[in-house]
Amino acid sequence: MDRSAIDRLIAQGLLQPARPSLTPQDIVRRYRQNPLEHLTRLSFELTTACNFHCRHCRNAPAVRVAPAPIDLAPLKAVVDEAYPIGIRHFDFIGGEISKFGNGWLELAHYIRQKPGTTVALFTNGGWLEQTDFTAAGVRYADESAYLDDLRQHGVRHLVFSLDGAEERHDDWRRHRGLYRRILNALISSSHLTVRPVRVVVEAIRVTITSWLTRGLPLQC
Ligand code: SF4
Repeated sequence: MDRSAIDRLIAQGLLQPARPSLTPQDIVRRYRQNPLEHLTRLSFELTTACNFHCRHCRNAPAVRVAPAPIDLAPLKAVVDEAYPIGIRHFDFIGGEISKFGNGWLELAHYIRQKPGTTVALFTNGGWLEQTDFTAAGVRYADESAYLDDLRQHGVRHLVFSLDGAEERHDDWRRHRGLYRRILNALISSSHLTVRPVRVVVEAIRVTITSWLTRGLPLQC
């Protein structure tokens, strides 16, 4: 990538320069010394299966097979290896792990037994405001029942994506009303048993400040 493109991204706040004290030679040296030194997060992408067909999905070319039952033993071993080197934050991404991937909640619970860890669920929010739905291999009566179970298993962070303002988001996600359901969940966060709720803004960083922060009590 040419330097001017990088400068534009920095000017837009999308990239941050490394600390000035680090020369390229320093970075190479530190990487050779310990490539894992700055690793703090580990993401489990246990399935590419998803109940959505978003226009922009980076997983679209992936074969969306129904996920096999998750083999927890090797995944717990990964956690056991990651924890001693300082990794404390664990993400479950997909695909839609919330819908598929039976057994991941047990892994989340295992992680949370280790002090100082956090577990985040990245979700498209398809289950919001639904009744009698299946998630993580379990039948839930409604959104609150699912949120309670997430909390019981130590999942305290939910991450939703917003791809733009309402019309654009719903169009890209091919789900009319989804944007509103996500915002409803944020606005009524006092009813949620899982906190904090985070929003990942996929597309419009500039516009977000004017419409997402308006009247909402949450940071994004
Ligand atoms: S919710 Fe995510 S994984 Fe599913 S189709 Fe949309 S972008 Fe792809």
